[in-house]
Amino acid sequence: MFAQHNLRPYNTFGLHATARYFATIGSENELREFLIDNAHQSLPLYVLGGGSNILLTGDVNGIVLKMEIKGVEVLDETETAVRVRVGAGENWHGFVLHSIAQGWGGVENLALIPGTVGAAPMQNIGAYGMEIKSVCVAVEAMDAQTGAIRTFSAEECRFGYRESVFKHELKGKYIITRVHFLLAKAPHALHIGYGDVKNFQPTNIQEVADAVISIRRSKLPDPAEIGNSGSFFKNPVVSAQQFAELQQKYPEIPHFDAPDGVKIPAAWLIERCGWKGKRLGNYGVHDRQALVLVNYGGASGAEILALADAIILSVQQTFGISLEKEVNVW
Ligand code: FAD
Ligand code: NAP
Repeated sequence: MFAQHNLRPYNTFGLHATARYFATIGSENELREFLIDNAHQSLPLYVLGGGSNILLTGDVNGIVLKMEIKGVEVLDETETAVRVRVGAGENWHGFVLHSIAQGWGGVENLALIPGTVGAAPMQNIGAYGMEIKSVCVAVEAMDAQTGAIRTFSAEECRFGYRESVFKHELKGKYIITRVHFLLAKAPHALHIGYGDVKNFQPTNIQEVADAVISIRRSKLPDPAEIGNSGSFFKNPVVSAQQFAELQQKYPEIPHFDAPDGVKIPAAWLIERCGWKGKRLGNYGVHDRQALVLVNYGGASGAEILALADAIILSVQQTFGISLEKEVNVW
């Protein structure tokens, strides 16, 4: 375990902060021993994957556990499907590429999402018309109090739009150690309904991933070049009545049907409030994607948080919609 460890290399915003203590976890046994040893200390635990969905607003007065449990194991296989069990510390995009190389379909639309496999169920990662809830069949997680492993069924994970039970009711109570996926063998059903992807006319899972990678590279800032955590806000879902009122005032408002109402792209709301491309010193709102807040270098997490709050306030005042942060604020 390291003391006063620099977290800058471990967060894609590239923010400066230190962890009071920092440890890497390579196995369930290591994690259990750590939790038991730590039982007498009153310091809070912070679980870290790839640091691509966190905002560090200051030094972390606790213990940061960097998850490095590895392994991709086939549990079960039929002619049409395969069930795999993947370590929480595996790189998500690496797992997507591995699956495609094996001919396993179901995660190709989620190519190039940064971070780890263990964090993916936290917010039911999604992109280009697919979410992991459609392929995640179980999640193994360790009880942070007792060290016991519990296997959650997909239903128990209560996946929603960028949501799960781990992000809410069980926040801080369980540490995800392995994730089970049920992936399909060829012939694959391709998910190419999403506009940008459809334009590429992909005919197999490799081509879907290639299309997604190409679109992402053209639209999103690379954290290796400009610090960011992807979409800072969730896309709001409003009631049909609220939408009808908004549409009367803004006939051009983009929208998509959602299970519980109408989804409005937050990027459009933010852009309409004049924030797109706005730069405040060394941080700001990305010029190609208004959902992404960026650190051009040397900004503080507190400054980025204040910017996020100012955006939330202006969208609330203009449209009467409360944007929710998607990024986890530490
Ligand atoms: P971290 O940032 O390390 O952690 C995120 C949260 O999960 C924290 O609260 C942490 O405590 C918790 N956590 C992490 N690992 C575990 C674990 N093993 N057990 C329990 N809790 C854990 N997200 C999408 O959904 N779709 C996208 O298309 C997308 N695109 C992105 C593009 C860019 C350029 C960037 C920077 C981010 C993007 N994201 C996207 C957000 C982010 O990549 C995902 O949310 C990703 O799953 C976060 O993984 P991570 O390992 O980096 O998590
Ligand atoms: P986009 O394609 O410009 O679309 C804008 C928004 O409209 C998206 O957020 C998307 O909602 C919604 N949308 C577009 N087409 C849709 C359709 N056919 N059906 C339903 N909803 C549709 O968005 P983008 O910013 O470039 O991102 C592309 C994809 O990558 C999106 O799925 C986005 O969620 C994902 N992404 C996520 C993050 C993150 O950090 N969470 C970062 C970058 C990209 P959805 O978001 O619900 O798909």
